[in-house]
Amino acid sequence: MSDQPARRADLRIDLGAIRHNVEVLSQRADGARTMVIVKSDGYGHGAPAVARAALSAGADSIGAASLQEALQLRAAGIDAPLLCWLYSRDDDFGPALDAGIELSASSKAVLHRIAGTAAERGVVARVHLKIDTGLCRSGCPADLWPELVEEAAKLRADGQVEVVAVWSHLACADELDHPSIDQQAARFQRAYEQARAVGLDPIRHLANSAAVLTRPDLHFELVRPGIAVYGLDPVPQHGDHGLVPAMTFRSSVALTKRVVAGESVSYGHSWTADRPVNLALVPVGYADGVPRTLSGRMSVWLGGRRRPVVGRVCMDQLVVLCDDDEVAEGDEVVLFGPGDRGEPTAAEWADEIGTIHYEIVTGMYRPRVTRTV
Ligand code: PLP
Repeated sequence: MSDQPARRADLRIDLGAIRHNVEVLSQRADGARTMVIVKSDGYGHGAPAVARAALSAGADSIGAASLQEALQLRAAGIDAPLLCWLYSRDDDFGPALDAGIELSASSKAVLHRIAGTAAERGVVARVHLKIDTGLCRSGCPADLWPELVEEAAKLRADGQVEVVAVWSHLACADELDHPSIDQQAARFQRAYEQARAVGLDPIRHLANSAAVLTRPDLHFELVRPGIAVYGLDPVPQHGDHGLVPAMTFRSSVALTKRVVAGESVSYGHSWTADRPVNLALVPVGYADGVPRTLSGRMSVWLGGRRRPVVGRVCMDQLVVLCDDDEVAEGDEVVLFGPGDRGEPTAAEWADEIGTIHYEIVTGMYRPRVTRTV
Protein backbone atom coordinates (compact mmCIF):
# COMPACT_ATOMS: atom_id res chain seq x y z
CA MET A 1 0.00 0.00 0.00
CA SER A 2 1.53 3.35 -0.97
CA ASP A 3 1.69 6.37 1.35
CA GLN A 4 0.57 8.95 -1.18
CA PRO A 5 -1.75 11.67 0.16
CA ALA A 6 -5.47 10.98 -0.14
CA ARG A 7 -7.10 11.94 -3.39
CA ARG A 8 -10.67 13.24 -3.49
CA ALA A 9 -12.27 9.82 -3.04
CA ASP A 10 -9.72 7.08 -2.66
CA LEU A 11 -9.91 3.41 -1.77
CA ARG A 12 -6.70 2.00 -0.37
CA ILE A 13 -6.33 -1.75 -0.58
CA ASP A 14 -3.87 -3.35 1.81
CA LEU A 15 -2.63 -6.53 0.13
CA GLY A 16 -0.61 -7.34 3.24
CA ALA A 17 -3.95 -7.65 5.04
CA ILE A 18 -5.26 -9.95 2.29
CA ARG A 19 -2.19 -12.18 2.66
CA HIS A 20 -2.55 -12.20 6.45
CA ASN A 21 -6.23 -13.16 6.24
CA VAL A 22 -5.53 -15.96 3.76
CA GLU A 23 -2.91 -17.34 6.15
CA VAL A 24 -5.40 -17.18 9.05
CA LEU A 25 -8.05 -18.97 6.98
CA SER A 26 -5.65 -21.61 5.64
CA GLN A 27 -4.60 -22.39 9.21
CA ARG A 28 -8.25 -22.72 10.18
CA ALA A 29 -8.84 -24.97 7.17
CA ASP A 30 -6.26 -27.27 8.68
CA GLY A 31 -5.34 -29.52 5.79
CA ALA A 32 -8.22 -28.65 3.45
CA ARG A 33 -7.26 -26.70 0.32
CA THR A 34 -8.35 -23.05 0.03
CA MET A 35 -10.21 -21.54 -2.92
CA VAL A 36 -10.33 -17.76 -2.50
CA ILE A 37 -13.50 -16.16 -3.86
CA VAL A 38 -12.88 -12.98 -5.85
CA LYS A 39 -16.29 -12.49 -7.50
CA SER A 40 -17.61 -8.97 -8.02
CA ASP A 41 -14.10 -7.62 -8.61
CA GLY A 42 -12.76 -9.15 -5.43
CA TYR A 43 -15.69 -7.83 -3.35
CA GLY A 44 -14.71 -4.36 -4.62
CA HIS A 45 -11.01 -4.71 -3.76
CA GLY A 46 -9.71 -5.56 -7.27
CA ALA A 47 -9.91 -9.20 -8.32
CA PRO A 48 -6.54 -9.74 -10.04
CA ALA A 49 -4.53 -8.07 -7.26
CA VAL A 50 -6.43 -9.98 -4.56
CA ALA A 51 -6.02 -13.28 -6.44
CA ARG A 52 -2.27 -12.71 -6.82
CA ALA A 53 -1.88 -11.81 -3.14
CA ALA A 54 -3.98 -14.79 -2.03
CA LEU A 55 -2.02 -17.25 -4.17
CA SER A 56 1.26 -15.86 -2.86
CA ALA A 57 -0.03 -16.47 0.68
CA GLY A 58 -0.76 -20.12 -0.04
CA ALA A 59 -4.27 -20.23 -1.55
CA ASP A 60 -4.64 -23.16 -3.95
CA SER A 61 -7.27 -21.88 -6.33
CA ILE A 62 -9.57 -18.98 -7.17
CA GLY A 63 -13.35 -18.78 -7.54
CA ALA A 64 -15.30 -16.19 -9.52
CA ALA A 65 -19.01 -16.11 -10.24
CA SER A 66 -19.37 -15.39 -13.96
CA LEU A 67 -17.54 -16.68 -17.01
CA GLN A 68 -16.60 -13.10 -17.85
CA GLU A 69 -14.97 -12.59 -14.44
CA ALA A 70 -13.02 -15.84 -14.81
CA LEU A 71 -11.82 -14.90 -18.31
CA GLN A 72 -10.74 -11.46 -17.07
CA LEU A 73 -8.65 -13.13 -14.37
CA ARG A 74 -6.96 -15.35 -16.95
CA ALA A 75 -6.33 -12.30 -19.15
CA ALA A 76 -4.73 -10.62 -16.13
CA GLY A 77 -2.29 -13.52 -15.85
CA ILE A 78 -3.90 -15.59 -13.08
CA ASP A 79 -3.04 -19.12 -14.17
CA ALA A 80 -3.98 -21.01 -10.98
CA PRO A 81 -6.98 -23.40 -10.95
CA LEU A 82 -10.03 -21.21 -11.42
CA LEU A 83 -13.73 -22.09 -11.00
CA CYS A 84 -16.80 -20.18 -12.15
CA TRP A 85 -20.45 -21.08 -11.78
CA LEU A 86 -22.85 -18.45 -13.07
CA TYR A 87 -23.93 -18.42 -16.71
CA SER A 88 -26.58 -17.06 -18.96
CA ARG A 89 -28.10 -19.04 -21.82
CA ASP A 90 -25.98 -17.23 -24.41
CA ASP A 91 -22.65 -17.80 -22.70
CA ASP A 92 -20.14 -19.67 -24.84
CA PHE A 93 -18.07 -22.15 -22.81
CA GLY A 94 -15.40 -22.38 -25.55
CA PRO A 95 -13.11 -19.54 -24.45
CA ALA A 96 -13.32 -20.69 -20.81
CA LEU A 97 -12.44 -24.27 -21.75
CA ASP A 98 -9.56 -23.04 -23.93
CA ALA A 99 -8.34 -21.07 -20.90
CA GLY A 100 -8.49 -24.14 -18.65
CA ILE A 101 -11.26 -22.66 -16.48
CA GLU A 102 -13.18 -25.19 -14.39
CA LEU A 103 -16.96 -25.03 -14.78
CA SER A 104 -19.85 -25.79 -12.49
CA ALA A 105 -22.84 -27.79 -13.75
CA SER A 106 -26.20 -27.80 -11.97
CA SER A 107 -28.20 -29.58 -14.66
CA LYS A 108 -27.87 -32.19 -17.38
CA ALA A 109 -28.50 -29.49 -20.01
CA VAL A 110 -25.53 -27.41 -18.86
CA LEU A 111 -23.37 -30.50 -18.43
CA HIS A 112 -24.14 -31.47 -22.05
CA ARG A 113 -23.37 -27.98 -23.31
CA ILE A 114 -20.03 -28.06 -21.49
CA ALA A 115 -19.19 -31.59 -22.70
CA GLY A 116 -20.24 -30.79 -26.28
CA THR A 117 -18.08 -27.67 -26.38
CA ALA A 118 -15.17 -29.57 -24.85
CA ALA A 119 -15.48 -32.26 -27.55
CA GLU A 120 -15.46 -29.60 -30.30
CA ARG A 121 -12.35 -28.01 -28.79
CA GLY A 122 -10.62 -31.34 -28.22
CA VAL A 123 -10.22 -30.74 -24.49
CA VAL A 124 -11.47 -32.48 -21.36
CA ALA A 125 -13.72 -30.19 -19.29
CA ARG A 126 -13.01 -30.07 -15.56
CA VAL A 127 -16.45 -29.94 -13.97
CA HIS A 128 -17.76 -29.32 -10.44
CA LEU A 129 -21.26 -30.78 -9.99
CA LYS A 130 -23.40 -28.50 -7.81
CA ILE A 131 -26.16 -29.91 -5.63
CA ASP A 132 -28.83 -27.63 -4.17
CA THR A 133 -28.87 -28.67 -0.52
CA GLY A 134 -31.32 -26.00 0.62
CA LEU A 135 -30.31 -22.52 -0.55
CA CYS A 136 -32.64 -22.86 -3.54
CA ARG A 137 -30.49 -20.77 -5.86
CA SER A 138 -28.25 -22.55 -8.37
CA GLY A 139 -27.50 -26.24 -7.85
CA CYS A 140 -29.28 -29.38 -8.97
CA PRO A 141 -32.46 -30.26 -7.03
CA ALA A 142 -32.04 -33.48 -5.05
CA ASP A 143 -34.60 -35.41 -7.12
CA LEU A 144 -32.69 -34.76 -10.36
CA TRP A 145 -29.25 -35.40 -8.83
CA PRO A 146 -29.09 -39.18 -9.48
CA GLU A 147 -29.65 -38.55 -13.21
CA LEU A 148 -27.03 -35.78 -13.24
CA VAL A 149 -24.32 -37.91 -11.64
CA GLU A 150 -25.13 -40.88 -13.91
CA GLU A 151 -24.83 -38.64 -16.94
CA ALA A 152 -21.56 -37.22 -15.63
CA ALA A 153 -20.22 -40.75 -15.14
CA LYS A 154 -21.07 -41.60 -18.79
CA LEU A 155 -19.44 -38.43 -20.13
CA ARG A 156 -16.43 -39.15 -18.00
CA ALA A 157 -16.17 -42.66 -19.40
CA ASP A 158 -16.34 -41.12 -22.91
CA GLY A 159 -13.40 -38.88 -21.98
CA GLN A 160 -15.32 -35.61 -22.33
CA VAL A 161 -15.39 -34.46 -18.72
CA GLU A 162 -13.43 -34.92 -15.56
CA VAL A 163 -15.58 -34.61 -12.45
CA VAL A 164 -13.41 -32.62 -10.06
CA ALA A 165 -15.87 -31.99 -7.23
CA VAL A 166 -19.31 -32.17 -5.75
CA TRP A 167 -20.19 -28.86 -4.16
CA SER A 168 -22.91 -26.77 -2.59
CA HIS A 169 -23.42 -23.48 -0.73
CA LEU A 170 -24.78 -22.83 2.77
CA ALA A 171 -27.74 -20.54 3.46
CA CYS A 172 -27.28 -19.66 7.15
CA ALA A 173 -23.68 -20.42 8.08
CA ASP A 174 -23.36 -17.06 9.87
CA GLU A 175 -26.13 -18.00 12.32
CA LEU A 176 -24.17 -20.43 14.43
CA ASP A 177 -26.89 -22.78 15.62
CA HIS A 178 -29.19 -22.55 12.65
CA PRO A 179 -30.73 -25.99 12.03
CA SER A 180 -30.42 -25.63 8.26
CA ILE A 181 -26.62 -26.01 8.49
CA ASP A 182 -26.76 -29.63 9.62
CA GLN A 183 -29.66 -30.34 7.31
CA GLN A 184 -27.69 -29.03 4.32
CA ALA A 185 -24.62 -30.97 5.45
CA ALA A 186 -26.63 -34.22 5.59
CA ARG A 187 -28.08 -33.62 2.11
CA PHE A 188 -24.60 -32.81 0.85
CA GLN A 189 -23.18 -36.04 2.21
CA ARG A 190 -26.01 -38.02 0.59
CA ALA A 191 -25.33 -36.36 -2.78
CA TYR A 192 -21.63 -37.14 -2.47
CA GLU A 193 -22.38 -40.81 -1.74
CA GLN A 194 -24.65 -40.97 -4.79
CA ALA A 195 -21.80 -39.63 -6.91
CA ARG A 196 -19.44 -42.23 -5.47
CA ALA A 197 -22.01 -44.96 -6.11
CA VAL A 198 -21.86 -44.32 -9.88
CA GLY A 199 -18.07 -44.54 -9.85
CA LEU A 200 -17.12 -40.86 -9.55
CA ASP A 201 -14.33 -39.88 -7.18
CA PRO A 202 -14.80 -36.14 -6.59
CA ILE A 203 -13.56 -33.90 -3.82
CA ARG A 204 -16.17 -31.97 -1.77
CA HIS A 205 -16.51 -28.26 -1.04
CA LEU A 206 -19.20 -26.54 0.98
CA ALA A 207 -17.71 -24.07 3.48
CA ASN A 208 -17.90 -20.29 3.01
CA SER A 209 -16.03 -17.96 5.41
CA ALA A 210 -18.46 -18.45 8.30
CA ALA A 211 -18.18 -22.22 8.04
CA VAL A 212 -14.39 -22.05 7.70
CA LEU A 213 -14.30 -20.15 11.00
CA THR A 214 -16.93 -22.12 12.93
CA ARG A 215 -17.52 -25.56 11.41
CA PRO A 216 -14.31 -27.60 10.99
CA ASP A 217 -16.50 -30.66 10.40
CA LEU A 218 -17.67 -29.08 7.12
CA HIS A 219 -14.27 -28.25 5.66
CA PHE A 220 -13.99 -31.49 3.63
CA GLU A 221 -11.21 -31.36 1.01
CA LEU A 222 -11.57 -27.68 0.02
CA VAL A 223 -12.97 -24.49 1.57
CA ARG A 224 -14.25 -21.39 -0.26
CA PRO A 225 -13.84 -18.24 1.87
CA GLY A 226 -14.78 -14.85 0.44
CA ILE A 227 -15.63 -12.07 2.88
CA ALA A 228 -13.09 -13.12 5.53
CA VAL A 229 -10.29 -12.86 2.95
CA TYR A 230 -11.07 -9.13 2.88
CA GLY A 231 -10.82 -8.95 6.66
CA LEU A 232 -14.54 -8.63 7.35
CA ASP A 233 -15.77 -11.11 9.92
CA PRO A 234 -19.09 -12.82 9.11
CA VAL A 235 -19.34 -14.27 12.65
CA PRO A 236 -18.00 -11.66 15.11
CA GLN A 237 -20.30 -13.18 17.75
CA HIS A 238 -18.02 -16.24 17.63
CA GLY A 239 -15.00 -14.34 18.95
CA ASP A 240 -12.10 -12.41 17.47
CA HIS A 241 -10.65 -14.29 14.50
CA GLY A 242 -7.73 -11.91 14.00
CA LEU A 243 -8.80 -10.74 10.55
CA VAL A 244 -7.57 -7.39 9.23
CA PRO A 245 -9.91 -5.31 7.00
CA ALA A 246 -8.12 -4.57 3.73
CA MET A 247 -10.11 -1.58 2.48
CA THR A 248 -9.74 2.01 3.67
CA PHE A 249 -11.87 4.79 2.19
CA ARG A 250 -10.22 8.20 2.39
CA SER A 251 -10.63 11.75 1.27
CA SER A 252 -9.23 15.08 2.41
CA VAL A 253 -10.56 18.39 3.63
CA ALA A 254 -11.39 20.64 0.66
CA LEU A 255 -12.48 23.76 2.54
CA THR A 256 -12.78 24.96 6.13
CA LYS A 257 -15.09 27.66 7.44
CA ARG A 258 -16.44 29.14 10.66
CA VAL A 259 -20.16 29.68 11.04
CA VAL A 260 -22.08 31.57 13.70
CA ALA A 261 -24.75 30.14 15.98
CA GLY A 262 -28.05 29.72 14.14
CA GLU A 263 -26.56 28.80 10.75
CA SER A 264 -27.90 25.52 9.29
CA VAL A 265 -25.98 23.02 7.20
CA SER A 266 -26.69 21.23 3.91
CA TYR A 267 -29.93 20.42 2.07
CA GLY A 268 -33.04 20.51 4.19
CA HIS A 269 -31.23 22.37 7.00
CA SER A 270 -31.47 19.29 9.20
CA TRP A 271 -28.68 20.49 11.54
CA THR A 272 -28.24 23.96 13.04
CA ALA A 273 -25.20 25.28 14.91
CA ASP A 274 -26.07 26.23 18.50
CA ARG A 275 -22.72 27.99 18.91
CA PRO A 276 -19.99 29.37 16.64
CA VAL A 277 -18.17 26.35 15.15
CA ASN A 278 -15.55 25.36 12.61
CA LEU A 279 -16.74 23.13 9.77
CA ALA A 280 -14.75 21.08 7.27
CA LEU A 281 -16.05 20.27 3.81
CA VAL A 282 -15.14 16.79 2.55
CA PRO A 283 -15.66 16.33 -1.19
CA VAL A 284 -17.31 12.90 -1.19
CA GLY A 285 -20.97 11.98 -1.11
CA TYR A 286 -23.51 9.36 -2.01
CA ALA A 287 -22.25 9.23 -5.60
CA ASP A 288 -18.96 8.02 -4.11
CA GLY A 289 -20.52 5.31 -1.97
CA VAL A 290 -21.36 7.18 1.26
CA PRO A 291 -24.96 6.07 1.96
CA ARG A 292 -27.26 9.09 2.22
CA THR A 293 -29.07 7.20 4.96
CA LEU A 294 -25.99 7.76 7.14
CA SER A 295 -26.87 11.48 7.30
CA GLY A 296 -26.84 12.52 10.96
CA ARG A 297 -25.55 9.07 12.00
CA MET A 298 -21.92 8.97 10.90
CA SER A 299 -18.55 10.26 11.89
CA VAL A 300 -15.14 10.41 10.20
CA TRP A 301 -11.57 10.18 11.44
CA LEU A 302 -9.98 13.61 11.08
CA GLY A 303 -7.11 15.22 12.96
CA GLY A 304 -6.56 12.25 15.27
CA ARG A 305 -10.14 11.75 16.40
CA ARG A 306 -13.66 10.97 15.35
CA ARG A 307 -15.81 13.93 14.38
CA PRO A 308 -19.51 13.89 13.47
CA VAL A 309 -20.83 14.57 10.00
CA VAL A 310 -23.56 17.20 10.31
CA GLY A 311 -26.49 17.85 7.97
CA ARG A 312 -27.34 15.68 5.00
CA VAL A 313 -24.83 13.72 2.97
CA CYS A 314 -25.06 15.22 -0.54
CA MET A 315 -24.19 13.68 -3.90
CA ASP A 316 -20.60 14.94 -3.83
CA GLN A 317 -20.00 16.53 -0.43
CA LEU A 318 -20.45 16.19 3.29
CA VAL A 319 -19.71 18.54 6.19
CA VAL A 320 -17.80 17.64 9.35
CA LEU A 321 -18.20 19.44 12.68
CA CYS A 322 -14.81 20.44 14.08
CA ASP A 323 -15.98 22.59 17.03
CA ASP A 324 -13.15 24.97 17.88
CA ASP A 325 -10.41 22.70 16.61
CA GLU A 326 -8.34 23.93 13.73
CA VAL A 327 -8.28 21.53 10.83
CA ALA A 328 -6.53 22.48 7.63
CA GLU A 329 -7.47 22.14 4.01
CA GLY A 330 -5.73 19.04 2.68
CA ASP A 331 -5.90 17.14 5.99
CA GLU A 332 -6.62 13.44 5.54
CA VAL A 333 -10.15 12.23 6.29
CA VAL A 334 -10.74 8.50 6.83
CA LEU A 335 -14.37 7.56 6.21
CA PHE A 336 -13.79 3.93 7.13
CA GLY A 337 -10.80 1.69 7.61
CA PRO A 338 -9.55 -1.27 9.64
CA GLY A 339 -10.63 0.46 12.87
CA ASP A 340 -7.32 -0.01 14.66
CA ARG A 341 -6.76 3.73 15.13
CA GLY A 342 -10.36 4.31 16.19
CA GLU A 343 -11.72 5.21 12.76
CA PRO A 344 -15.15 3.94 11.66
CA THR A 345 -15.30 0.55 9.89
CA ALA A 346 -17.34 -0.79 6.99
CA ALA A 347 -19.04 -3.10 9.49
CA GLU A 348 -20.17 -0.06 11.52
CA TRP A 349 -21.61 1.59 8.41
CA ALA A 350 -23.47 -1.62 7.63
CA ASP A 351 -24.88 -1.98 11.16
CA GLU A 352 -25.96 1.65 11.18
CA ILE A 353 -28.00 1.38 7.98
CA GLY A 354 -29.24 -2.19 8.45
CA THR A 355 -27.23 -4.00 5.81
CA ILE A 356 -24.17 -6.27 5.71
CA HIS A 357 -20.53 -5.27 5.28
CA TYR A 358 -20.46 -7.28 2.03
CA GLU A 359 -22.78 -4.71 0.46
CA ILE A 360 -20.73 -1.76 1.69
CA VAL A 361 -17.36 -2.87 0.29
CA THR A 362 -18.66 -4.33 -2.99
CA GLY A 363 -20.39 -1.02 -3.73
CA MET A 364 -17.47 1.31 -3.10
CA TYR A 365 -15.49 1.20 -6.34
CA ARG A 366 -17.15 3.56 -8.79
CA PRO A 367 -16.08 5.49 -11.89
CA ARG A 368 -14.85 8.60 -10.07
CA VAL A 369 -13.39 6.81 -7.04
CA THR A 370 -9.70 5.96 -7.31
CA ARG A 371 -8.37 2.67 -6.00
CA THR A 372 -4.78 2.32 -4.87
CA VAL A 373 -3.35 -1.13 -4.27
N1 PLP B 1 -19.00 -19.78 -2.56
C1 PLP B 1 -19.99 -19.26 -3.30
C2 PLP B 1 -20.68 -20.08 -4.33
C3 PLP B 1 -20.39 -17.94 -3.11
O1 PLP B 1 -21.37 -17.41 -3.86
C4 PLP B 1 -19.73 -17.18 -2.11
C5 PLP B 1 -20.16 -15.81 -1.82
O2 PLP B 1 -21.30 -15.54 -1.56
C6 PLP B 1 -18.70 -17.77 -1.36
C7 PLP B 1 -18.36 -19.08 -1.60
C8 PLP B 1 -17.99 -17.02 -0.27
O3 PLP B 1 -18.88 -16.66 0.74
P1 PLP B 1 -18.41 -15.70 1.94
O4 PLP B 1 -18.10 -14.41 1.30
O5 PLP B 1 -19.59 -15.63 2.83
O6 PLP B 1 -17.23 -16.35 2.53
